[in-house]
Amino acid sequence: MKSLSKTWSILKDVYEKEATKVTTSHQSSRSKLYTPISLKMAQFWKPGTAKPRLLDDEEGGVLFYSASPASSSTYGHVSLEKERQRLPVFKYRMSILYLVETHSTTIIVGETGSGKTTQIPQYLKEAGWADGGRIIACTQPRRLAVQSVAARVAEEMGVNLGEEVGYTIRFEDVTNPDLTRIKFLTDGVLLREMMDDPLLSKYSVIMVDEAHERSLSTDILLGLLKKIQRRRPELRLIIASATIEAKSMAAFFQTRKRRPQLEGEDHGLKTEPAILSVEGRGFNVQIFYAEEPVSDYLRATVSTVMSIHNKEPMGDILVFLTGQDDIDTAVQLITEESQNSGKSSLGMIVLPLYSGLTRADQDLVFSPSPRGKRKVVISTNIAETSLTLEGIVYVIDSGFSKQRFYNPITDIENLVVAPISKASARQRAGRAGRVRPGKCYRLYTEDYFVNEMSLEGIPEMQRSNLVSSVIQLKALGIDNILGFDWPSSPSPEAMVRALEVLYSLGILDDDAKLTSPVGFQVAELPLDPMISKMIIVSDELGCSEEIITVSAILSIQSIWISVKGQRELDEAKLRFAASEGDHVTFLNVYRGFLQSNKSSKWCHKNFINYHAMKKVMEVREQLRRVAQRLGLALKSCENDMQVLRRAVTAGFFANACRLEPYSHNGTYKTLRSSQEVYIHPSSVLFRVNPKWVVYHSLVSTDPTTNESYTPLGSEPNTGHLV
Ligand code: ADP
Ligand code: MG
Repeated sequence: MKSLSKTWSILKDVYEKEATKVTTSHQSSRSKLYTPISLKMAQFWKPGTAKPRLLDDEEGGVLFYSASPASSSTYGHVSLEKERQRLPVFKYRMSILYLVETHSTTIIVGETGSGKTTQIPQYLKEAGWADGGRIIACTQPRRLAVQSVAARVAEEMGVNLGEEVGYTIRFEDVTNPDLTRIKFLTDGVLLREMMDDPLLSKYSVIMVDEAHERSLSTDILLGLLKKIQRRRPELRLIIASATIEAKSMAAFFQTRKRRPQLEGEDHGLKTEPAILSVEGRGFNVQIFYAEEPVSDYLRATVSTVMSIHNKEPMGDILVFLTGQDDIDTAVQLITEESQNSGKSSLGMIVLPLYSGLTRADQDLVFSPSPRGKRKVVISTNIAETSLTLEGIVYVIDSGFSKQRFYNPITDIENLVVAPISKASARQRAGRAGRVRPGKCYRLYTEDYFVNEMSLEGIPEMQRSNLVSSVIQLKALGIDNILGFDWPSSPSPEAMVRALEVLYSLGILDDDAKLTSPVGFQVAELPLDPMISKMIIVSDELGCSEEIITVSAILSIQSIWISVKGQRELDEAKLRFAASEGDHVTFLNVYRGFLQSNKSSKWCHKNFINYHAMKKVMEVREQLRRVAQRLGLALKSCENDMQVLRRAVTAGFFANACRLEPYSHNGTYKTLRSSQEVYIHPSSVLFRVNPKWVVYHSLVSTDPTTNESYTPLGSEPNTGHLV
């Protein structure tokens, strides 16, 4: 390693200081590196019991995760069945089945990796909950987690994925209605299923997993499931999570006295929720803090990875960063650094982990490191609780994650890099203690952790735009949305804003009811309401084929390949660039792809992601089917981009922005809230700066300045503002 950054030297100092303490104060210890240092030690709180004062809050040092006597690395050649029996949840198999049998709702709290997600659905199936054609559902907030756990469970059961065990995420249904008995799905997909089957009658048990994440869809789902339970007392719910406030969740599910006519049906079923906590088997984790605030967490990450790799015994490293961009950069920097630093850094495998990875890349992350190699996984907070990686001994916590924030005053929703909560920080640290005692390097100061970090995160419900949720609830016949039984209520301002936008789009009428047919059609389309509206209008304008193509591309994370040389990518984009903006540019890419006979070579040459384009084709076909079901005519406008722009504007007029008069740096103001925004460099309209644009999304690229950009713009046809 040529140059050491400041942060690294600080961490190294901390480390060496602590290591010295170890050798002097624990002469008889087995290994100086893994023995907890003689700082404050606290028994880790067993979820479900009274929460002790956590000493690391005040004084830092060591977090003691309840250790189990038997070390249980999965690295041996043990059979999957043996592996299953070794999981902490196995001991609780009978208790779980008993509680589910006797209670409407069972709340299960257990440390990440204890086997909740992969085992409980299998126990239920073994106990007969899927007999008679019934299905066991397990929801997850994240798509990647759905795919990954479903694959794992199919493997453990020795069945083909998509048959007895299947999964459904938006635009991807890997189930077989006749065969699938255990189904993993996102909470959003289950909400959608309620539109066709309001009582979710094919499910015998629904396990709502990762409830502590408090995702928008999870919260709505919990409110609705509570309602369903009153109509379907035989339905069993399992609420599972890592660090949930079990008591408050139990209070939420504490149903009022059953109505007399239902009394006879419950056969002694207890409506009071049961709470079970599964003891973890984590090991103690030493915590190291940066001595001074870290100004560049990417650099700090790189140097910390290198120092662990050079100085510490074998064991994999898990790094928590925020999103694909900084993860890709970190992977590249670490790879370069390790190539430059000579022999000692050989033997490192650096892998990214974020949603949108291909199956092959996911498998790499899960497969054990080859002998003598150290795996470094750079992840979003998906590895915080949703996915468990074996073999992790070192965790590096940047202290940030990407979070959605909605401001109802400016009516702008941003995905921003924001500080995590103490609950997340603890969860991240715990990932280091899975196979043996571990170490967690926090790239922030102890003072910051103790005094500034918030205790818990804010539920997504309270920091999101509610437009989609309002439509879903309305479509399910819930008219009094403010009176809905939310696990945590959204702000009235956000609700008013959502109603306003939906009214202006013609989706809600004067009585705040869904309009017919537009409102109901929008609710049927699994898309952002603005995109759905654009599709519906395109039917009248005769350009639905083109608009459906654009909508499919908007549903994919990115169709471009992220490359090192930004210039080459920009040049490639220019080949497709349309003066009308990004939407027409996308259409050009799609047409080019078709002309090339869907060639992967063509994609490669043009910096286009071939797999993303294949996915676009799939999504497009699905959207066409939904459109046909809704009675929309599929028509093409050929080369009339004027009508296409009218359709885009009809959906997105609420996101119109106007170039500031005399602006020299391309400053725009949004029409709705006069918020200052700029066109994102990735847009073909960057530097073109037309007078009017409509945008698809806003991102805030710098958390300190809170500067906003419009990453995707189209110049509307102002003459036809609808
Ligand atoms: P929990 O839901 O309690 O966090 P899981 O059921 O997800 O736990 O995981 C239990 C165990 O199964 C973990 O030890 C993990 O390593 C293993 N596991 C889960 N998913 C996979 C996978 N896709 N590949 C390999 N192992 C997995
Ligand atoms: Mg889980």
